[in-house]
Amino acid sequence: MSVFPTSLDAINNRIDTLNLADYAQTRNYLKGSVSRLSPYISRGVISLPYILNRILSMNTVDEARTYIYELCWREYFQRIWHVHGDKIFTDFKQVQHPVKHHYMIRSVYEASTGIDGIDREIESLYATGYIHNHVRMYIASMVTNIGKAHWSYPAQWMYYHLLDGDLASNALSWQWVAGTSSSKKYYCNQVNINTYCGTEQTGTFLDHSYEHVMAMDCPDELSETTSPELITVLPSPPALQLDYSKPMLLYNSYTLDPQWRQTEDVNRVLVLEPSHFSHYPVSGKVMEWILTLAKEISGIQIYCGEIHDLPYMKSFPHIISKEHPTTRHYPGIKDPLTWMFPEVPDPTGSFTGFWKRCEKILYRLSPS
Ligand SMILES: Cc1cc2nc3c(=O)[nH]c(=O)nc-3n(C[C@H](O)[C@H](O)[C@H](O)COP(=O)(O)OP(=O)(O)OC[C@H]3O[C@@H](n4cnc5c(N)ncnc54)[C@H](O)[C@@H]3O)c2cc1C
Repeated sequence: MSVFPTSLDAINNRIDTLNLADYAQTRNYLKGSVSRLSPYISRGVISLPYILNRILSMNTVDEARTYIYELCWREYFQRIWHVHGDKIFTDFKQVQHPVKHHYMIRSVYEASTGIDGIDREIESLYATGYIHNHVRMYIASMVTNIGKAHWSYPAQWMYYHLLDGDLASNALSWQWVAGTSSSKKYYCNQVNINTYCGTEQTGTFLDHSYEHVMAMDCPDELSETTSPELITVLPSPPALQLDYSKPMLLYNSYTLDPQWRQTEDVNRVLVLEPSHFSHYPVSGKVMEWILTLAKEISGIQIYCGEIHDLPYMKSFPHIISKEHPTTRHYPGIKDPLTWMFPEVPDPTGSFTGFWKRCEKILYRLSPS
């Protein structure tokens, strides 16, 4: 069976069989019980409230608390994107310092840093499109805080390869590590990497105390740069066959929900805009993932082009899409975004403050 099956039954089964106690204990370890639900969440196949309800129908809040806390990180980043738009692509709270260049670090790109736990996982990212959260943090720390690269281009490199690529979680997580959206930079060393990656390496450029790593100049192993071209190859679908007497439902690579208005008799079109993918490129593997998920949406057709070039749009009785930062320029009606904690105001400060407010509501909704 595929690591990422696409049927809703298989996804529901993944949620229902999550071992939440194990998750809480082991999520930081490479071999820990993480859910691997992000490739479905990021692409809009399932929403955060959907997962929350399903989990709470089988578990108490206390049992599910750690997992919900992680889901809340996603809600926090999405809501920042929703409010601040493209500001998330610039140094968010403070300017990154010091910065030696705006390129990718060659040894990271080539999976040849010499840190075995990391190199192995970069190879695996290229092969599978998934990488564990802790390794994402290690890579971002090596690139920005130790290698002194600005976070933006390396974040694009990682996004390019991720099946779960999400512009907000990605940019804001890189910024969290680089200290531009958080109060301090995140650092790693070899002992920490060995603990969580199951390696026993010594004598590497990271085999030092935290104090030493934090004071280090860029080591030779991270000094060469590269700027790989990140290009999306869009598919060449057949011409659209549209019925202008029926409403038009527009999907994109972030809104691939097979249950959305499922019973309605409508046109369904997945819009892949060249302008979007030239700003935010994705690999062939990621495009294949998007197209595979789209196959779960009954009757969907694919359109590669700009939304405003779709012919005869005014002829449809309604045009409907899902509200999302990437669909703001779509014509017609928008079905609103859904949050786990809509009562909590959009975040203005730290995640901790946001989580505290969410947690209060969580325990009020479902006492443990
Ligand atoms: C540098 C960096 C880049 C990242 N880029 C992305 C990205 O492009 N897309 C993406 O979805 N996540 C990103 N993350 C967040 C996190 O790494 C992934 O969401 C998580 O690893 C997904 O695997 P999982 O579903 O097995 O996670 P689990 O541990 O099982 O977590 C469950 C869910 O909670 C959410 N979640 C967990 N941790 C985080 C987090 N730190 N931030 C936001 N949401 C979280 C995700 O939706 C995830 O599916 C990034 C993190 C870092 C440090």
